[in-house]
Amino acid sequence: MISTDKNTVIYCDPFIPPEWIAAHGLRPLRVAPNISENAAIGVCPYARAFTNEINFQKNVCAAIFATTCDQMRRSSDIAIKNSILPIFLMNVPTVWQRKSATELYAAEIERLSRFLTQFDAQRPTNAKLAEVMIDFENKRQTQLAKQKPTDKIPLAIIGSHLLKQDHIIFDIVQKYGGCIAIDATTDGGRTLPGKFDRTQLIKNPVKELVSAYFETIPDVFQRPNDRLYDWFKKKLNETYVRGILFHHYIWCDKWHAEFGRICDKEFTSLPVLDISAGDNDKNTKSCLTTRIQAFMEMLE
Ligand code: SF4
Repeated sequence: MISTDKNTVIYCDPFIPPEWIAAHGLRPLRVAPNISENAAIGVCPYARAFTNEINFQKNVCAAIFATTCDQMRRSSDIAIKNSILPIFLMNVPTVWQRKSATELYAAEIERLSRFLTQFDAQRPTNAKLAEVMIDFENKRQTQLAKQKPTDKIPLAIIGSHLLKQDHIIFDIVQKYGGCIAIDATTDGGRTLPGKFDRTQLIKNPVKELVSAYFETIPDVFQRPNDRLYDWFKKKLNETYVRGILFHHYIWCDKWHAEFGRICDKEFTSLPVLDISAGDNDKNTKSCLTTRIQAFMEMLE
């Protein structure tokens, strides 16, 4: 057992269930990292920023990476080498249609539990886990209920993770008369877990957790990734947005490859603005502002 008075476990991937960490008596902290200064060609700024961030947050006893993209997988190698924190790399299967993929994810959840119990934490009982899951779900529902409809021009944004400073996109959209009605970035509503089935939750909460996360969240890395498009199409049909912002970092192959499919007229006839983000670009804000302003004017 590792003796520590720190109790925070830092992570950024939506396939890592915070309920599982909290039920072990630890504090899950999902971060939107700040861009780091030491840019490197070919390295995703988000993966690099998260790897740096784990050393700067207070009270952290461990960090969790996930294999949902190669950049993150490689970043975990760097973190293992350079960070004093214990690092856990969670395998999230890219295939999802087979039972064996769900079983692998469930086995990773158990392996994560064994990792967490190093830190003066205990594997939760079913009753404890169910209680924590209900608590987290209630908090998510309360947050969602706070979102009120507005009379601004509704847009969707789809794409990768967002660094802390990327949240300026939402402010710029608002400034020029719009609002983000669908947030399909990796940090938005798209990656919320499915609603827990309360009967199953009492019978077998771990199975319900696996189902709500692995079997529900649609993401770009999955093969096939049709679930992402089905989810997005359904949201577009329900919400009647007027345009789409597509966000990705220049070194993010996963999202880069999807731009053509999002723009394909067979998928949507809505206008799509590519707001690719570079590496620590000092002109990012003014460039983004000009492009989003022009896009909003076109939609008015
Ligand atoms: S932005 Fe892309 S490359 Fe970077 S961590 Fe996310 S999925 Fe991976």
